[in-house]
Amino acid sequence: MHHDRSRFSLFTSVVLYAIASSAWLLGSDRLFAWMLHQPVHHGFVQLLTDLSWIGFSCLYIVWLVRRDRHRPIPIQLVVAAPTQDDPSLGESTPDVHPVSQATSQDAKLYADLQQAIQRQEFRLCYQPIVLLTNEDLVGFEALIRWRHPIDGERSPVQFMPLVETTDLTAVVDAWVLEEACRQMKWWQQHYPIARSLVVSVNLSGQQFCQPNLVTWVKSILDSTGLPAKSLKLEVTETTLMKDAQLAVELLEQLNQIGVKLSIDDFGTGYSSLSYLYRFPMDTLKIDRSFLNHIDVDGEQVELVRTILMLAWNLGLDTIAEGIETPMQLAQLKSLRCTYGQGFLFSEPLEASEMGKFLKKCQQANHL
Ligand code: C2E
Ligand code: MG
Ligand code: MG
Repeated sequence: MHHDRSRFSLFTSVVLYAIASSAWLLGSDRLFAWMLHQPVHHGFVQLLTDLSWIGFSCLYIVWLVRRDRHRPIPIQLVVAAPTQDDPSLGESTPDVHPVSQATSQDAKLYADLQQAIQRQEFRLCYQPIVLLTNEDLVGFEALIRWRHPIDGERSPVQFMPLVETTDLTAVVDAWVLEEACRQMKWWQQHYPIARSLVVSVNLSGQQFCQPNLVTWVKSILDSTGLPAKSLKLEVTETTLMKDAQLAVELLEQLNQIGVKLSIDDFGTGYSSLSYLYRFPMDTLKIDRSFLNHIDVDGEQVELVRTILMLAWNLGLDTIAEGIETPMQLAQLKSLRCTYGQGFLFSEPLEASEMGKFLKKCQQANHL
């Protein structure tokens, strides 16, 4: 769409230029003819006409440049190059948006997000993750929240896909990681129970693949003072499989600095089993879509059982995402899934609420 508009304005500019220059030539010819009959030197008249012609052209070019400088900067969408070994990437890859396909809605959302960064409209909520056998708190997942000044709360499902495919990712991911680590460190200083807990932070695909990932994570841990063992990074299965070889290398480096790692939304991507064995992960999170009907659907039960067996064989802990009902919980317990997260236990909590929750847990544990 942007492309068409710029082609149109270029065409208009050329036509305008042609009309203006014809008019000028016609006018200057008449002027030249009239001046020839005046008692002045011919060479001087020619020079005068040439100079004004050059002046006119310069003025026009300056106007064009200034006009373009004041146009809004077009949205810069980063196009991820498809890799050969990723079956999910083809001509119709959904997460690759050439600049020319950016919709006006995307442009508006992008501008809103830029403002949100400047006005600091983001905050983090924390959703508890519990041991399924006794519902003890083992950690929580940091989830971004955005309150738009006019539209109110906007779900990350609406805005994170755009953030993750633009140059905003670096800023947003850095803020999320830093804020989550800072908050966790604060809780650890004020509530001893938090020292054995782990905060999970979602990492976007683009940020995961950046060359200085490990240095970046390490510098945030150093600046906030959070021990590496208290941080778990969640990377989606789809991101890991986009460039599985690179993922193995990055995960190994993260593993070496002591950060924990989790495969998010497992079951929604196309995992290569051989690579799954090579990823030095700690946890596998079973996507919520597998739990929808787990209490009534035998096929879903078998699917979850298979995923759990795979995880055990890989030596991974398992977290079931999106547990909403006691029936789902009972089924997951009977399948011996270790951990869970979902509205049944708690919705994502504001930081202040999470603080109170930690205080309560601490009192219950006589710490
Ligand atoms: P996710 O990482 O898989 O996060 C879990 C999502 O499931 C969260 O949605 C959470 O609120 C929701 N959820 C948890 N329990 C239940 C339940 O029992 N029922 C239902 N219906 N939903 C449940 P949320 O916060 O809307 O986030 C959606 C996705 O947006 C996340 O999925 C993640 O992919 C992305 N996201 C959220 N926060 C961040 C962030 O800080 N950074 C990045 N890169 N992505 C984020
Ligand atoms: Mg997650
Ligand atoms: Mg998930």
